[in-house]
Amino acid sequence: METCEHGAIAWNGRGPLTDWEKCEQCGACSEVCYAEARQVVGREMTVAQVMAEVERDIPFYDESGGGVTLSGGEPLAQRDFALGLLKACREKEIHTALDTCGFASWDTFERLRGCVDLFLYDLKLVDAEKHRQFTGVSNERILANLQALSQHGHRIILRVPVIPGINDDEETIRQIASLAASLPHLEGIELLPYHHIGVDKYARLNKAYLLPAAQPPSDEKMAELARLIQPEFRPNQ
Ligand code: SF4
Repeated sequence: METCEHGAIAWNGRGPLTDWEKCEQCGACSEVCYAEARQVVGREMTVAQVMAEVERDIPFYDESGGGVTLSGGEPLAQRDFALGLLKACREKEIHTALDTCGFASWDTFERLRGCVDLFLYDLKLVDAEKHRQFTGVSNERILANLQALSQHGHRIILRVPVIPGINDDEETIRQIASLAASLPHLEGIELLPYHHIGVDKYARLNKAYLLPAAQPPSDEKMAELARLIQPEFRPNQ
């Protein structure tokens, strides 16, 4: 409480309570938290600073065939930084992958697609109405960008987070498989079972977790969904 110059920490009778509206995220409280219950996660870095870290691992990339993956959150939310980093990797001939939800302007993709070796493209729902209902936005732009990247010959892997009660039904998975089959350069589809990691993250950030309580899908369920995809889609058709 004494350390916080912004008066964001108060005693509520049982323990310290932080008012996140007042918090300026200066990190001073984390420096004096002897129990390390409070930590700063993440820090601002320049492209040059990130590249200095990346370049230290070049011998490992050469050995394993690996490279750099921009992930998130959504890396395109920081478009200029993402572009700068991708260009810097390209100059060093480091393999690049971009993990994106696709919700960005085509202009954004146009600028950076030349520096991306592999797109890891998230797709939750093909049905426009359901997409709007569960994500709050239309999927029109997402699908158009996906089609355009594929038409331009980019390597793409579709990544489908399987969320119980939202997109784990047969019709939805068949729609995704059918879309995948129509994309000329798709390398694969990955079905990713929903997990609870985000619940804890939201709680720590004091944010409401809006997804209704759901259990991760079973291995059997995932296998069943994979079987629905296989007859429709063959990689690199
Ligand atoms: S990080 Fe927030 S709560 Fe902690 S000292 Fe700074 S303003 Fe106060």
